[in-house]
Amino acid sequence: MKKLIFLLLTISFFSCKKERSTPPVPDPVTTVGYNFDNDSNSSLMFKDGESMELLTSEARRYEIGKVLRVKAINATTIEVANFAPVDIADATILLTIQGQSKPVKLFKIGKIRAHAVQQIKYPFIEGGTKFLDVDGAETDLAQYKTTGIPTDKVSFDFTGDSDLIKKLKSLSKLKWKIKYQDFDGNDDPNNNWKENIDAKDVRRFSGLIINLAYLFQAEQTQTAFLAEPITGDNKVALTLEQKQEAFKKIIDIPEFNCGVVVNVAGLGGGSTYGVDNYVLRDYLTLDICFVAVHEIGHMVGYSHNSSMTYPTTNNRGAVVATGNIYKDMIAKKELPITTGNYYLKADL
Ligand SMILES: [Zn+2]
Repeated sequence: MKKLIFLLLTISFFSCKKERSTPPVPDPVTTVGYNFDNDSNSSLMFKDGESMELLTSEARRYEIGKVLRVKAINATTIEVANFAPVDIADATILLTIQGQSKPVKLFKIGKIRAHAVQQIKYPFIEGGTKFLDVDGAETDLAQYKTTGIPTDKVSFDFTGDSDLIKKLKSLSKLKWKIKYQDFDGNDDPNNNWKENIDAKDVRRFSGLIINLAYLFQAEQTQTAFLAEPITGDNKVALTLEQKQEAFKKIIDIPEFNCGVVVNVAGLGGGSTYGVDNYVLRDYLTLDICFVAVHEIGHMVGYSHNSSMTYPTTNNRGAVVATGNIYKDMIAKKELPITTGNYYLKADL
């Protein structure tokens, strides 16, 4: 009897102690981290010698607000790609599943090198299934562990606290979807398109388009644009409302099909956006708006009669207003892509 009481006491003592000192342990929440920073964990897009088919592939079209792009390849595999010509560090990839109210923090990226691309399995396929949503609440993705998630039910975004990530995120104000194109597909010698665009053209273009988008997302650019005297195709000054409309049209351009021209400075209209190689060479150090914004003026429907393209004789117009801001951004090292962070010095 004494032994039994002792045993019971012991049990109750231990169980009591256990309850006090060891609260129930929840299953660990997954915080997977990846690096895509060398040849063993990623490959490079836009590498010298890459085929024209790949350089200009529709599968490589990306939203300017998602230059760090994650897309579903199938139910269990996703592709991570950096369309910026700079390394990106300390990013968090967010997954939104159709029907779920909040995005889930899927994984962290310690570093992804410029133009890196890599396919991986969803982290919950091989690892834990518990994740945190953007508000820190636990979400269990166990139901997808064996089947994965249908590709049409997922979307992705990225986030992070660094200056670079904040600048890249600000580009999501624009609707531009970017792709590179060899407009001289038939090698026609009688047009102004470069015979064959190459990987270096695309690498440099990928930085130009980010800096241009950054220019247009900035509040001060819109302010300067709206304050600028700009004339329409009929040479009559645009009203404030017309300038607001023109600026919004630029922000809302749905597609940018980017190519390289020869003999002329640029070509633009509809979704076609072509600039000469000297623009691709100069945009990190010089104001290139005289060509780069001129062609955007064509894309939103203005002709050479309007100072949305060429400045007026007293040097007023869209390219002047935007050019002043661009110059200022270069001087203040404010643009996302700079000579300092561009990854291939040989391209500069
Ligand atoms: Zn023109």
